[in-house]
Amino acid sequence: MDTLIFGISGLPLGNGSTRLNYASGIDYLKSIGLDAMELLFVRNVNVTDRNKSLILEAKIRNNIYLSAHGSHYINLNAKETEKQEQSVDRILKAREGLSKVGGRSLVFHLGFYLGASEDDAYSRIRDNLLRLPRTGVDYRLETTGKGTQFGTLEELVSLCKEIRTCKLCIDFSHIHARYNGKLKGYNDFANILQYVSNELGRSALEDLHMHIGGVNYNEKGERKHLPLLQSDFNYVECLKAIRDYHVKGCIIAEGPMVEKDALLLKETYGRL
Ligand SMILES: [Zn+2]
Repeated sequence: MDTLIFGISGLPLGNGSTRLNYASGIDYLKSIGLDAMELLFVRNVNVTDRNKSLILEAKIRNNIYLSAHGSHYINLNAKETEKQEQSVDRILKAREGLSKVGGRSLVFHLGFYLGASEDDAYSRIRDNLLRLPRTGVDYRLETTGKGTQFGTLEELVSLCKEIRTCKLCIDFSHIHARYNGKLKGYNDFANILQYVSNELGRSALEDLHMHIGGVNYNEKGERKHLPLLQSDFNYVECLKAIRDYHVKGCIIAEGPMVEKDALLLKETYGRL
């Protein structure tokens, strides 16, 4: 991508006068200066044959970047083969829904260790990812917020090296929470970007998908999303590192403030 754009996860709150759906939400986002939306397929794929045309038209009309967040019930490291199959199937259905509206990036969490060694979990997850179709969308492997979840930055970078259709979704807040508040200052963010650039090349920073939000955590990791200004997440230093590394792509704001936090990120970035 040639720029860095900002958007939100799910539907915007709007001005309270009408309930927004994906299509009207896209119009609204554009009207307030945002350029991306991550559709939430976490419970079900809510792009259907009924709403897909309106969403696609709104996307084209507003030149909005669409991604989607896949099901929370994906575990490519499940012990039972049947559950692995169901997980692959959920990814395929999400891929189909996102493709219908011209979306590019399908974000998902890969699964849980469930007592398996990191190496065994890695192999099983890799083998399942290799079964996914190689065309259509980018599979965006998301860094996870708890130690029980597969998805350290190192694991995901390694998978991206092995599988061409896989790219990163760096959820900075998850990394922060996973390690009980590790990302404190500028260097903590810069080190992440430097590592990605060293391992995956400059091109990975030129098309990067990111999540930023306030987060509450303890020694077990992520607990819940918070408004950015009510959390200790150092978004200013994070954005400075993103600027200094000339990162391009998409930043999705997550959390209860939805578009307000996305605008806070965009305006802060613009003032740096
Ligand atoms: Zn996620």
